[in-house]
Amino acid sequence: MGLLKARDKKAKNPEHYLVKRCPECFINLPMDATKCYSCKTKVGDVDHYGKAKKKTNWYSYIICIGAWGFLIVYIGWAFF
Ligand SMILES: [Zn+2]
Repeated sequence: MGLLKARDKKAKNPEHYLVKRCPECFINLPMDATKCYSCKTKVGDVDHYGKAKKKTNWYSYIICIGAWGFLIVYIGWAFF
């Protein structure tokens, strides 16, 4: 008697999640969420661990670089 153990070909894809987790506060968010409703962190797509990817906040970077640039220019203008 042959033991026919049919493999379940309809096995769930491990990368398929119903929810993703906020990278900051680990709260469950819906898959289409772009922002965490708890800590207001911007979230991207889900990664292999069911965790949402952090989105780079380019606007903050530009503001920061601009502020530093202004400070350097101001110091150069005021003291030299
Ligand atoms: Zn959060």
